[in-house]
Amino acid sequence: MKKRESHFETRCIHGGQEPDPQTGAVMPPVSLSSTYAQSAPAKPVGDYEYSRTNNPTRHALESALANLEGGVGAVAFASGMAAVDGVMRLLKPGQTLVSGRDLYGGTARLFRSDVLPTREWLSVDTTEPDRFEGWKKANLIWVETPTNPLLEVTDIAQIRALAPQAILAVDNTFMSPALQNPLSLGADLVVHSTTKYIGGHSDVVGGCVIAKERVLCERLQSIQNDAGAIPGPLDCYLQLRGIKTLALRMERHLKSAGKIARFLEKHPLVEEVIWPGHPSHPQHEVQRRQARGGGGIISFRVKEGCSAPQAVSQMTFWTLAESLGGVESLVCLPSKMTHASIPERERENRGITDELIRLSVGIEDCDDLIRGIERGLQKATS
Ligand SMILES: *Cc1c(COP(=O)(O)O)cnc(C)c1O
Repeated sequence: MKKRESHFETRCIHGGQEPDPQTGAVMPPVSLSSTYAQSAPAKPVGDYEYSRTNNPTRHALESALANLEGGVGAVAFASGMAAVDGVMRLLKPGQTLVSGRDLYGGTARLFRSDVLPTREWLSVDTTEPDRFEGWKKANLIWVETPTNPLLEVTDIAQIRALAPQAILAVDNTFMSPALQNPLSLGADLVVHSTTKYIGGHSDVVGGCVIAKERVLCERLQSIQNDAGAIPGPLDCYLQLRGIKTLALRMERHLKSAGKIARFLEKHPLVEEVIWPGHPSHPQHEVQRRQARGGGGIISFRVKEGCSAPQAVSQMTFWTLAESLGGVESLVCLPSKMTHASIPERERENRGITDELIRLSVGIEDCDDLIRGIERGLQKATS
C-alpha cells in the first residue's frame, strides 16, 4: 500500500517520514550544519550544499507536511507570517490580490502595509462570493476558512469555480490538515501557521506553504531561498514531533469544543455562540461539506451586564493569551489583543466588539474546562 493512500492517523506517523538511511534513527537528527562538503567544485558529497537552500531536518518536515495536505511539495518558513509573505511575493507589481474581509490580524496588517510591492487589494465577503463581480480580475486569492475570530466559512470549491485563472491560496491554520484539505477542494496553495495545531505545544513559531503543482512549488522554493525566511533545524524538529500526535490531539479538541459549544449555547449569560460545527452557524452546511468537523476554536458574545474582560481574566484552567491550537486551553479578547491593530470603526462594523471572547479548546478534561468558564462568567457579573 502506498503511504499516501493510508489513513490520516497513519500518515501523521509515517507520511513522508522514513528512518534515517545512515543510522536507522526513527526521528530525523537535528542537522545543525550550515554547510556541506563538496568532493570537487559544485559536486556536493550528498544532497545538500548550504542550509538556507536546503537542510535535512527541514526537508524531513517539508516531506511530512506535503503528505498531510496531499501536495507535491511543501516549503517551510520561519513563521506563519513569513509564509503569508512568501505567497504574496508570487504577485508581480500592479497585479490584483482579492482576499476575504475577516482576516488574521497579522495578515490584515501585512496586506495594509507598504512592505509588499504595490498591488491592487480588494477585500470582499467570501461567504457570499456571488455578490462580488471582480473575481475574473484576481491574480491571487487569499481565503481563510474558518476565519479568525468570527469563524466565517468560505466555500473553497465555489471560489475556485468563480476564478479559475487565479492562484487560490487557503490559510488552513484553524482546521489543520486533520480536518480540511483545501488542495482537494480546488486550492493551489495551502498555508499554515505551524505555530498553532501542527506544532501543537506552544513551543515553536513556524509556517509553511504546501503546493498542489510543481511549478508553484518551485517558485516558492526560490522565494524561500532568495528571501531566506527559513526555520532553524530545531524548530523543524519540534514541528515534526508535533505532527506525530496531530490526529490524536484534533480528535480531542473537536470533541471538547462540541461539548463546550453546547454548554455555552444554554448559558444565561451568553448572547451568541459562533462555532462552525453547530447547526446554528450560518455556513454550517458548507463546513459540513468541506471539512470534518467544526474545529477547536469557539467564539462567543456575553450579554450586557457580564464583563468580558473580567470573565477572560477569571477562568480557571484557561490561560489569557494570544495564539491557539496548543494542548493547553487559551482564552482571548480579540478586540483588545489579536485584533487591536484593526481600526476601531472597522472592528466594530465587523462585530469584533469588546463582548466577543475567543476560546482555543485544549486537551484538558472537558468538565474541568467547563467549570473554569462557569467561574469566569460568574465572577464577571458580580
Ligand atoms: C497565527 C496565524 C498566522 C500567523 O502565524 P505566525 O506563526 O504567528 O506568524 C496566520 N494565519 C492564521 C490564521 C493564524 O492563526
